[in-house]
Amino acid sequence: MSSFDLTGRRVWVAGHRGMVGSAIARRLAGEECEIITATRNELDLLRQADVQSWMAEKKIEVVFHAAATVGGILANSTRPAEFLYENLMIAANVIEAARQTGVKKLLFLGSSCIYPRLAPQPMREEDLLTGALEPTNEWYAIAKIAGIKLCQAFRRQYGCDFVSVMPTNLYGPGDRYDAQGGHVVAALIMKIHTARMSNSPRVELWGSGTPRREFLFSEDLADACVFVMKHYSGEMFLNVGTGRDMTIMELAESIARIIGWKGTFTFDRSKPDGMPRKVMDVSRLSALGWSARTDFETGMKEAYNWYLANVANRGM
Ligand code: GDP
Repeated sequence: MSSFDLTGRRVWVAGHRGMVGSAIARRLAGEECEIITATRNELDLLRQADVQSWMAEKKIEVVFHAAATVGGILANSTRPAEFLYENLMIAANVIEAARQTGVKKLLFLGSSCIYPRLAPQPMREEDLLTGALEPTNEWYAIAKIAGIKLCQAFRRQYGCDFVSVMPTNLYGPGDRYDAQGGHVVAALIMKIHTARMSNSPRVELWGSGTPRREFLFSEDLADACVFVMKHYSGEMFLNVGTGRDMTIMELAESIARIIGWKGTFTFDRSKPDGMPRKVMDVSRLSALGWSARTDFETGMKEAYNWYLANVANRGM
């Protein structure tokens, strides 16, 4: 197994304000490397020349590329131009600047939505580009597929040590708590907490409640990213997940139990279901020696506690 030492390296976490980037920065605090970050005001990732000069000036040696324009199923399907253009540019600009400035290693983060809508389940890395994408997130998916392909092409043509990981649906501290634009876990934490506080007997779920999703705790993903950075150098990207899934209805019931709300769910069928099922085959990463550690209940309680402290009860 290859080994890449982070000790003493100047490591840029791109997207450090997001759920994934902030988890990676927390995880890297346990490594003896120098963590470098830039706010949106300091560096606009949509500008190639700025990215390149900033990386040269900061003497970046290692990149965790967790920057992206993200959102849940509704944001993805209603803001297609932003999701496609911004994510393409953010991926391409950082990857090309990393080559230009001689970065030693880069890890690019994709998403499980890169797989065909009707991919066999669990989805294997080989299933990429074997069928049509899910229309609600194809904009984001195409940008992420381009990012994977850039890493692969730069490895082939220029010998760059650029790797990619594809996380499944995520949840955790720092998620975007935005009822319209966020992902399902954050949206349900918000809705169910609000129902509990206002003694409301009903919470509305989008779609039918029957789609199946796999949920990975953001801190586990961060650990996987550091593991892959240290131990993997290959053209094939790697799935990161738990390998287990549940229906959206089961997810909603679990969150209700954790929050302590007893009520009934209704369904807004005018909202999309998205992919019928999304669960990762995680055997490649398991064979390298990494698997997710945090069980769903523990991770979800942590996510909820973060929400209480940082969103619901902020300033109290
Ligand atoms: P996806 O995995 O790309 O489809 O992203 P999401 O996390 O946004 O949605 C996952 C599933 O949860 C979809 O089937 C949604 O229709 C369903 N869902 C149910 N209620 C909600 C909600 O309040 N917000 C979101 N984002 N999704 C919801």
